[in-house]
Amino acid sequence: MNVPEIYADMVFNDKVMRERLPKDIYKAVRKTSKNGTHLELDVANTVAAVMKEWAIERGATHFTHWFQPMTGLTAEKHDSFISPTEDGSVIMEFSGKELVKGEPDASSFPSGGLRATFEARGYTAWDPSSPAFVKDGTLYIPTAFCSYGGEALDKKTPLLRSMEALSDSAVKVLHLLGDEEVTHVDTTVGSEQEYFLIDKDLYMKRKDLVLTGRTLLGAPAPKGQEMEDHYFGVLKPQVSEYMHELDKELWELGVPAKTKHNEVAPAQHELAPVFETANVAVDHNQLTMEVMKKVANKFGYACLLHEKPFEGINGSGKHNNWSIVTNTGVNLLDPGKNPAENTRFLVFLMAVIAAVDEAQELLRISVASAGNDHRLGGNEAPPAIISIFVGDELEKVLISVEKGTSLEDSAKTKMNIGAHVLPHITKDKTDRNRTSPFAFTGNKFEFRMPGSSLSVANPNIVLNTAVAEQLDLIFAKIKDVPADKLDEELHKVLRDTLVAHKRILFNGNGYTDEWVEEAERRGLANLASLPDAVPYFIDPKSIELFTKHGIFTEDELYSRYEILLENYAKTIHIEALTLMEMVRKDFTTGLVRYMKDITTEALKKRDLLPYSKCSYEAQILQTLDETSEEIVRAMDQLAEDTAKAEEIEDVLEQAKYYHETILAEMDELRGWTDRAEAIIPDEYLPYPTYEAMLFSLR
Ligand code: ADP
Ligand code: MG
Repeated sequence: MNVPEIYADMVFNDKVMRERLPKDIYKAVRKTSKNGTHLELDVANTVAAVMKEWAIERGATHFTHWFQPMTGLTAEKHDSFISPTEDGSVIMEFSGKELVKGEPDASSFPSGGLRATFEARGYTAWDPSSPAFVKDGTLYIPTAFCSYGGEALDKKTPLLRSMEALSDSAVKVLHLLGDEEVTHVDTTVGSEQEYFLIDKDLYMKRKDLVLTGRTLLGAPAPKGQEMEDHYFGVLKPQVSEYMHELDKELWELGVPAKTKHNEVAPAQHELAPVFETANVAVDHNQLTMEVMKKVANKFGYACLLHEKPFEGINGSGKHNNWSIVTNTGVNLLDPGKNPAENTRFLVFLMAVIAAVDEAQELLRISVASAGNDHRLGGNEAPPAIISIFVGDELEKVLISVEKGTSLEDSAKTKMNIGAHVLPHITKDKTDRNRTSPFAFTGNKFEFRMPGSSLSVANPNIVLNTAVAEQLDLIFAKIKDVPADKLDEELHKVLRDTLVAHKRILFNGNGYTDEWVEEAERRGLANLASLPDAVPYFIDPKSIELFTKHGIFTEDELYSRYEILLENYAKTIHIEALTLMEMVRKDFTTGLVRYMKDITTEALKKRDLLPYSKCSYEAQILQTLDETSEEIVRAMDQLAEDTAKAEEIEDVLEQAKYYHETILAEMDELRGWTDRAEAIIPDEYLPYPTYEAMLFSLR
């Protein structure tokens, strides 16, 4: 495979535009994608014509406006290029209007009450900052999705707004610090994607996996991940072929897939891309998830992206690596090599520290989902408490900033920590704290709470906005300070910020009970579930933050609040129904058949050996009989309460009921069926066991 040749072959990127578009048109498009302005119709017409020709060469017959509604998935509706002519044949057409704007019937997408049904139409608008591409015979045009009133109905619009907000705030601060050349900053994101592969035939036999993405019952296999023999293990031959094909298809789509390896749990893997601008990285992560599933099918696998497909086995996350880069190419979270660079670094570092402290609830909400809640606080994922890990070296620097004391650098020279005389801070990649939800890793922050199936738009919207806010606060404090006092004043601002927010810093083990207690003493939020967290989304502080920076209007916030809660309730509702159906139809059938067979065998044995007590058979029968009584009881309870849940009108109350009552009852029911499953032979169950699913990859 000639990688440079196939790389981005299916992408209408800058290179293609430069080659194919007339010069003035190319310049106009560049300007649009940089400034977010509108494209003139004649320019759009030319771009559309060129794009169509290019796409047809790559086998495209259709185009689609590709968008990210608030389902968290992507949406697409395909239109062909054909236009019938009078002589009964067709020509292929694609106009500028079709490129820049679409009008999908949007009434079936969640809007949280934003879009009254009488004006069900929404519109999609081309986002030229994320390149169009051809996939499976269709030209995909990345778009933003809004209501006719202009409210955002998607994840891209607020993400783009938040990137702009951060850029504006960062540029102001940089100019004050003397970086006059910078006119724009971008947020960069690299999202590491974890996933499971299991045999597709086995997958199809499990209603829970097919309908809900996770196993709702199933006794643990005798072996789990305790041997730690899977992490970075040798790739199984067919898995390796799968990853190879996955890389190839992603590369063709211009997704910079870089690293692949086995993860901690059996049958679990990871793919990490090279980082890109946040907006493109989010689109590419959505594409990655899609292509992962598609390629899995080719190889007879099912790709599981749920956060917790298997009880007792590590779930899957998606680490969001995040930094800020200037249009002059400087990574603002890189400690730098000289004192001035160090100062700039410290300003941005402190803004992030303060932002994460101030927005801890919002960050928690940004990764909340029914699936991810199973993972956060489990033993494999960071706890639901947000804290920042900075590492030993940086901690020493921060202590010096706070105390105003001197610090020895690696060359043992003493330095005063004035803003302009900071020690050279080296990148430290070795000292990693895997238990921290938000870790500084040398020149970026790694947010480890996002779940594997979530769009990374949300965490980045919150991060960008919260950091913009803190940069504004710093700017306000130093903007009128005379140049000769700037260093001194800056140092004071940094120290004050640190003192106010240092409770968020924690270098220790985040998985311990001591940390939970300590975090409570520090006043940090510990929001275990989505219904616990989501009310913070619409509290006055959050409304103030998001509206001030133009990220969400108050209406948009309320709509998202409702959608989050509704989605949560619906997910658990479907899970409860699926669990009951599986127990009733699949599990109980197996159970009854096994009990009948044992009884028949025992009676036969009695005929032959009248003196036998049939102790073994009797014991199994008794256990299963007792368990089945409990199963019936637990099922009745769950059925009754699931019906009750549906009647609750208030969305928050309903979500809480699902969390506190329904999930707990599902767990109880599962406890009983799992206990029985452990003694029923596999062949009696119509669905595969944990052992079969987790240890059968070739
Ligand atoms: P790991 O966390 O698995 O040890 P790395 O830290 O090497 O792996 O990188 C993880 C991810 O961080 C990669 O996707 C990489 O592209 C991304 N990354 C590296 N630098 C940046 C940056 N400046 N901004 C955003 N993401 C980055
Ligand atoms: Mg990582």
